[in-house]
Amino acid sequence: MTFDYDLFVIGAGSGGLAAAKAAASYGARVGIAEHEALGGTCVNRGCIPKKLIVYAADFALQKQMAHRYGWTECDNYFDWTRFTKSVDKHLESLNDSFSKQLQKAGVDLIKGYATFVDNHTLELDGRKITADKILIAVGGRPNLPDIPGIEFAITSREMFHLPYLPKRFVVIGGGYIGIEFASMMNALGCKVTVINNDELILSGFDDDVRSRIQQGLANRGIRFFHNSTAKQIKLGEDGLLVNIKGDKQATVAADTILVATGRAPNVEKLGLEKVSVELAEKGTIKVNEYNCTNVDNIYAVGDCSSSLQLTPVAKAEGQAFAKTVFGKTPKTVNYSEVPTAVFSRPEGASFGMTEKQARSEFGDDGVECFSTEFKPLFSQFGGTEEKAMMKIIVQSENQRVLGAHMVGEHAADIIQSLGVAIRKGITKQDLDDTIGIHPTTAEEFMTL
Ligand SMILES: Cc1cc2nc3c(=O)[nH]c(=O)nc-3n(C[C@H](O)[C@H](O)[C@H](O)COP(=O)(O)OP(=O)(O)OC[C@H]3O[C@@H](n4cnc5c(N)ncnc54)[C@H](O)[C@@H]3O)c2cc1C
Repeated sequence: MTFDYDLFVIGAGSGGLAAAKAAASYGARVGIAEHEALGGTCVNRGCIPKKLIVYAADFALQKQMAHRYGWTECDNYFDWTRFTKSVDKHLESLNDSFSKQLQKAGVDLIKGYATFVDNHTLELDGRKITADKILIAVGGRPNLPDIPGIEFAITSREMFHLPYLPKRFVVIGGGYIGIEFASMMNALGCKVTVINNDELILSGFDDDVRSRIQQGLANRGIRFFHNSTAKQIKLGEDGLLVNIKGDKQATVAADTILVATGRAPNVEKLGLEKVSVELAEKGTIKVNEYNCTNVDNIYAVGDCSSSLQLTPVAKAEGQAFAKTVFGKTPKTVNYSEVPTAVFSRPEGASFGMTEKQARSEFGDDGVECFSTEFKPLFSQFGGTEEKAMMKIIVQSENQRVLGAHMVGEHAADIIQSLGVAIRKGITKQDLDDTIGIHPTTAEEFMTL
């Protein structure tokens, strides 16, 4: 049987684009469907616009210290509307560049929403397309908790289109997305409250990272409700009112309420029942280590099938899929070697095992932890309380570094480089023997 394409990809986000371009480079005839903007969540409503707000907010934080650095007059006004317009323009240019990349790679882009007809056939706005292999790369969307008044809240998607900067901002959820928005909105001058269902924010990170970031944000005036959940949202005379139950009971007033309580895969409307593709427990698409579903010509990558919902993971899965299926070289993704960061201020980043994970694998005597906490030069001179924390987890038996964790300026960039060395199996002695660059924050990893 002949098909229109060797591979058809549903979704042109991080995973789908990477897979489509890689498969085409192996000589496959590839088509890709996208019903929104090219680039998916990361480019249009995730990593990129978020990092641009982080940068915008950094000017506000630096302004607080500017007089210590000799600046006498700093412009005080931040124009949110002008800024978001510039962000939109930048994203448009990225969309254009993705379109050119697809053209250059020889991938056909078809605009529209794809659904399954059978194992080899998709329907796109009334048009039937056939393919030998189909890759599902449809990503996810924010979860909305089932509480009265949830329709008054917004999600990360709407954050980038707020018509104005709110004065009072409440975040429901203490994961990295909620915490990043809490941090940047606080820096931009909003009064921020975070409602988190645990004692510490940022579940999954090392406990020292969690507590230091929480403390750093509290020092900047963010109010936390721990072990708490939002029970109801109402529209009051003076804006929105969120009713909180937990360690403390309270009703907090807000202009904007952001819900950041996890994400769900975009699988319901795909017609998966027509091809009997199985789902895993949390509703994600079940795949094997080569990203193949239970149907042997249908694959899935990225947020719709992965438990690690990060752009580099989606890309790595897309490329590994293409190499395995079209490059004829089996390749899998190593999920234990994924660095992660939270772009709050203070910033945090991690690679490898947390202290808890290492102790549960090697026992208390099998693990040594080395850490330091100090005020970096920039904050010392700037007169702020911002501290840096660095920590490595070492296997006692052979002194191998199992994990590195950091809170402080440039944490993500520093941990990214350290990750390469840790992957290569360095020991604590290797770090001690490496000469640092002075004066930097990173050099402290060589002196733990
Ligand atoms: C606020 C926020 C901040 C984030 N920050 C970071 C970060 O700093 N670092 C990081 O690594 N990750 C970050 N992420 C996560 C990252 O964005 C995702 O992990 C990544 O985008 C997943 O890529 P994907 O290809 O699986 O899905 P997506 O990028 O979501 O792409 C899926 C695409 O499929 C399209 N689609 C869906 N269904 C269909 C259909 N039936 N037909 C046609 N098209 C369809 C969608 O429109 C979408 O464009 C962030 C996410 C959010 C929400």
